[in-house]
Amino acid sequence: MVNPKRIKQLNSKAIGKGPIIYWMGRDQRINDNWSLLYAQELAKTINQPLVVVFAMPPTFENAGLRQYEFAISGLEEIEKGLQKKNIPFFVPLGDVAELVIEFAKTHKAAAVVTDQNPMHYVRATQQAVADSLEVPLFVVDAHNIIPVWVASDKLEFAAYTIRPKIHRLLPEFLENFPELQKQAMNWTGEAPAINWQEVRASIKADSKVTAVDWIKPGEKAAHKMLENFFVERLQVYATDRNDPNKQAQSNLSPYLHFGHIAAGRVALEASSLPESEAKDSFLEELIVRKELADNFCYYNPNYDNFNGFHAWAQKTLNEHREDERQYLYTRRELEDAQTHDELWNAAQLEMTTTGKMHNYMRMYWAKKILEWTPDPETALSEAIYLNDKYELDGRDPNGYVGCAWSIGGVHDRAWGEREIFGKIRFMSYNGAKSKFKIQNYIDSINALSKRGLF
Ligand code: FAD
Repeated sequence: MVNPKRIKQLNSKAIGKGPIIYWMGRDQRINDNWSLLYAQELAKTINQPLVVVFAMPPTFENAGLRQYEFAISGLEEIEKGLQKKNIPFFVPLGDVAELVIEFAKTHKAAAVVTDQNPMHYVRATQQAVADSLEVPLFVVDAHNIIPVWVASDKLEFAAYTIRPKIHRLLPEFLENFPELQKQAMNWTGEAPAINWQEVRASIKADSKVTAVDWIKPGEKAAHKMLENFFVERLQVYATDRNDPNKQAQSNLSPYLHFGHIAAGRVALEASSLPESEAKDSFLEELIVRKELADNFCYYNPNYDNFNGFHAWAQKTLNEHREDERQYLYTRRELEDAQTHDELWNAAQLEMTTTGKMHNYMRMYWAKKILEWTPDPETALSEAIYLNDKYELDGRDPNGYVGCAWSIGGVHDRAWGEREIFGKIRFMSYNGAKSKFKIQNYIDSINALSKRGLF
């Protein structure tokens, strides 16, 4: 049975008599998915069929073709997997809330189950659906290991405040996933094969943000990437993950973002490995940092603007508002990697061409945007705009927190005061130079992008 603490009901309606709908959101997988498991549990209890619906909008919060293509290919794999489980899959096209309400009404659903997602635009849609339905809308936290509302009941200050809570709760929530059963009760309505060409044709996303082929989408590919990380890169994770010239990171973020793999599964597999510093630092990022990011977006309505920063950070940035900026760049200049700093330009190019900037460079990149734009508000909105447009893992709580950490000191502490940054932690070109061979990074990004190898 799915732990009831993972579930919240967004309205106060009673369960009806028809099928159960799993309205799939950010947990786009069949295995290790608490939302789908809960939907199946409900269907079994009332002896009704189960159906999965992914409502596909033509545009979605600045997502480009790259992110749509990653998601759609993953959904194609889901269609095949669900067939084997006797569960029909529908991908209606258009306005998400309207589609879900219409589907539930047409099929006389008994209840709708969906995924927890702290982004305000998703929560608004979920609430609108909950208010219109005549049946319950259950939100299940299938993304975090510990449900966001259980990990903490308030906005946490930093990693050190949430870490003990998470570690105390892990024994209860880092549990094995039961297998999804073959659905006993048949769907009696029509369930035509999905026309993926039609799905792709409906998308109005920016086609200049092209799909990438260095990373394959879907559940199978996600598990392969995880295995590959354990064999080839985990052993140097603790020592080399801050060197953009080295392959030490897991590359799991696009899969975690789209839910192609459960963080719980990754943590279970990693926990079974022999003890090492690398394993501990990987689990710290995957669990504490990642769940702290969800906490920030869930409890802070200003997660994407200046008002979301700590009071000390707002004060210090305000005090340095009028400081002279030596360089000022427009959105176009930033987007086209046309700054005086070749290291920054390489990072920007890495993101626009591959869809994944190295973690160390993400921090440097965002901090320079604070230095080169007229004010912190502009800096944050430009960083979020570019991050969401080009990163495969964009539009994620980790991204909003990454930008707010870099520009607004969120989850960080005050540092020595300096121009523009005030007491926000500073990062410099020379600092990067002392940490890794920056010329090798610049050359490799430039060479690969010129040869079109991405
Ligand atoms: P690994 O180092 O292998 O880490 C494994 C997992 O741990 C990651 O997939 C991620 O889920 C989590 N993790 C790692 N670092 C962090 C972190 N600092 N905060 C929270 N969780 C973390 N991450 C995104 O997923 N999407 C974004 O859009 C995003 N934008 C960022 C923007 C800026 C300015 C900064 C500073 C950071 C951003 N991050 C973002 C966080 C981090 O850079 C990426 O999660 C990480 O680089 C992804 O690569 P990986 O999966 O190979 O990471």
